[in-house]
Amino acid sequence: MGFHCACCGQHHDDFPMDVGFDEPLPYHALSKQERARYAKLTADTCVLDGPGERQYFVRGVLLLPVRDHPELNRFAWGAWVSLSAASFADYESLGDGPVPAGHGWFGWFCNRLPHYPDTLNLKMDVYPQGGGERPHLRVQACDHPLYREQQNGITLARVHEFVDELLEREG
Ligand SMILES: [Zn+2]
Repeated sequence: MGFHCACCGQHHDDFPMDVGFDEPLPYHALSKQERARYAKLTADTCVLDGPGERQYFVRGVLLLPVRDHPELNRFAWGAWVSLSAASFADYESLGDGPVPAGHGWFGWFCNRLPHYPDTLNLKMDVYPQGGGERPHLRVQACDHPLYREQQNGITLARVHEFVDELLEREG
């Protein structure tokens, strides 16, 4: 198992190809008491029902193609977007059932990805996948490296940066 890494010259038993966030940033920012009072968090959804407008979040998958490593063909950020009340209701009504072709919603990106300029509130297209798979996130056209990387792909060296602290190295 594992592979010889062209980036660092070592053998990696395990090379993680995804990094995920368990919660959207607005939830993360709440105190323990506020969470208990206002927030409902699951592995896939989050609703904040505090003072002010109710907010809805879903966890999705943002895929980045990896250009130079055929075995590990894509890296995935597991991250959250906020949806409108109507979109969230639609998300819930779809459940794990089939999804009409091209069906999707608008969402605001709700995490700060490391190794990028601020990614909070980037505009996303959110595409449900059905079958219990998390929705796929597409960055809308803009002048942000995350958009360019999703369009053009990234290198294994870039993935190496993302997962550096998670890597187990030989010796
Ligand atoms: Zn390496």
